[in-house]
Amino acid sequence: MEELGELVAVLLGLHAALGLHWFPRGAYVFRAFFGAGSRVIPASAAWGSDRMALFFGAPLPGAGRFHLVELFPLSLGREAILAHVAQDPNPGGRTPKSGRLATWDDARGARAETRDVYLGRAPLVTVGSEALAAHVVRMLRRLSPLEPAERARELESIQLRALDEALVRERADAWVREARRLRWPAIATFAFLFLVLPLVGVTLGLSLAWPWLLAVAIALQAWSAVAFFRAHRRLEPAERGERARRTFTVALSPLEALRGAEILGRDLLAGFHPLAVGAVLLSRADFERFAERVLRDALHPIPPTCPSDDPRSIATEREARERLVRALELAARRAGLPADLATRAPAGDSDERSYCPRCLRTYLLEAGTCPECWDLPLAPLERARAVVA
Ligand SMILES: [Zn+2]
Repeated sequence: MEELGELVAVLLGLHAALGLHWFPRGAYVFRAFFGAGSRVIPASAAWGSDRMALFFGAPLPGAGRFHLVELFPLSLGREAILAHVAQDPNPGGRTPKSGRLATWDDARGARAETRDVYLGRAPLVTVGSEALAAHVVRMLRRLSPLEPAERARELESIQLRALDEALVRERADAWVREARRLRWPAIATFAFLFLVLPLVGVTLGLSLAWPWLLAVAIALQAWSAVAFFRAHRRLEPAERGERARRTFTVALSPLEALRGAEILGRDLLAGFHPLAVGAVLLSRADFERFAERVLRDALHPIPPTCPSDDPRSIATEREARERLVRALELAARRAGLPADLATRAPAGDSDERSYCPRCLRTYLLEAGTCPECWDLPLAPLERARAVVA
């Protein structure tokens, strides 16, 4: 009996451990434990280091959702590629990157090794998912042979697509349909592992019942694997290699089978900007708060915006940042957000003279910098009040 208790405890522990995800700190998790009401959680709110964070998915199969959405990790310019991005609305600050500058000729041989993107022998950037690494590599290879003017146009349309909430909704809805189908084998497997197995062990004894239990376990695994394979094919028709690999693990491990919908959902929205995902998954009040943070950070990024003095790096960073700001402003207008959401000044006390346009802290100082935002220059509060009046 003791062994049985230990077995169930080990299975529960493994199930919890498999629900643990790690990802870079410039990422956001959109998570719901039950139903549709998602919350957005910045990576800096989770355990981890200054580069990586850890997060749990929903513990019960068939409940909730878990999507990992990262900020795009590179500044792409018409002439060059910079492994650094100024914008990072995450309260924990900017995720450190290599700052490497590469040419578009280098990008011809871009390749992904799990979560690392390589140009030549040296890694360019590490991201939080294989899906995003593959997405970045496809994009670099496609843009590499283009003329600069054509590349600039392509980059503009790629940016708009990353912020297209209609595309996010389409994909999120498709996932919900697949998650509903995957729920049944997962619930059955969960009940088998954590209810039937201990009950049979206590009453009949495992030594007597094991042939029946094994038969049921095999049937459940087959059901889970077939359901997962079909769902993956509908959601990611092009990803054959990944489908085979994932289906194999789901077929072999009952604990993986419990997380079929989570496996499909984790990187479902990897190619999109978190703002577009927020527009679809968050309540209106939560979305407005989130959007304000994203927009203020985009307009007033943490200084310095570029890690190097090299003029090509500076130009590449600036081009990518300005393109993102344009696309964010368009998306904000489309979402019906207040026009002054990211530019209005806080009320402040009568003796306060300045405020931080990024985090909205108010200060008695006439002028200065915000220590919470890595010494971003403050904006005068008086003038802002006068404008409002
Ligand atoms: Zn600040």
